Amino acid sequence: MYLQGHVGVSALILHFLEKKGLRIAFPLALFSSMIPDFIDKPLELLFLLPGRFIGHMILTWLVVIIIGKGIANATRNPDIFTYSYSVALGALLHIVEDFRDPSLLRTIFWPVLGWQLPKQNGRFDFLLGLRDPYYAIFEGIGLILIVYVGMKRGWEKDEFYKMIWIFLAYWALYVSFYAIFVGFSK
Ligand SMILES: [Zn+2]
Repeated sequence: MYLQGHVGVSALILHFLEKKGLRIAFPLALFSSMIPDFIDKPLELLFLLPGRFIGHMILTWLVVIIIGKGIANATRNPDIFTYSYSVALGALLHIVEDFRDPSLLRTIFWPVLGWQLPKQNGRFDFLLGLRDPYYAIFEGIGLILIVYVGMKRGWEKDEFYKMIWIFLAYWALYVSFYAIFVGFSK
C-alpha cells in the first residue's frame, strides 16, 4: 500500500476507535500512518537497508510511547502522552496494513523471533510496486475512504485541500525517486 491506501484504511479505523471513546490526536495519527515508509524507504534506497526496517518494528513504537509517557510525567503535560501514542497507533496500523507475507513477522516482532531480518526482494520493490494492480486498487479504495471519513467528520473545504496538497507532495516525491532510481526509459 502507498499513501492513499494507508491513509484511507487508517482514517477509517482511527475514526472508529475515536467513536469507541479512545482519545486520539487524529491528524497526527493519520499522518503517522505513512511514517514507517517515510523512515524506511529512503534508508533502503540510499543505504541498501531492508525496505521494512526500524519504522516497521513494534519495538520502535513502544519506545516512542514510553518516551512520550516519560516526558508527559516529567512535564506534567498528559497531552504529550496522547501525541506519542497517537503517532505510535498510526504507525502500528500501517504495519498491520502492510502485512502480506509471514516472513515479515520477523521484522514486526524484532528481535523476538531472532536477530536476523528477512531478505528483501529488491531495492526498488517499493518504487516498482505500483505496477502491481493489487496496490493500484488499494490507492483507489484509499481515496474513497478518505473522502468518506472526511465527510463523516465534517471536514471543511480547507481540510480536504490540505489532504490534496499532502498527496500531491508525496506523489511528487515518489515520481522523483522513481525517475532517479528506476528511470523512465524502462
Ligand atoms: Zn510500509
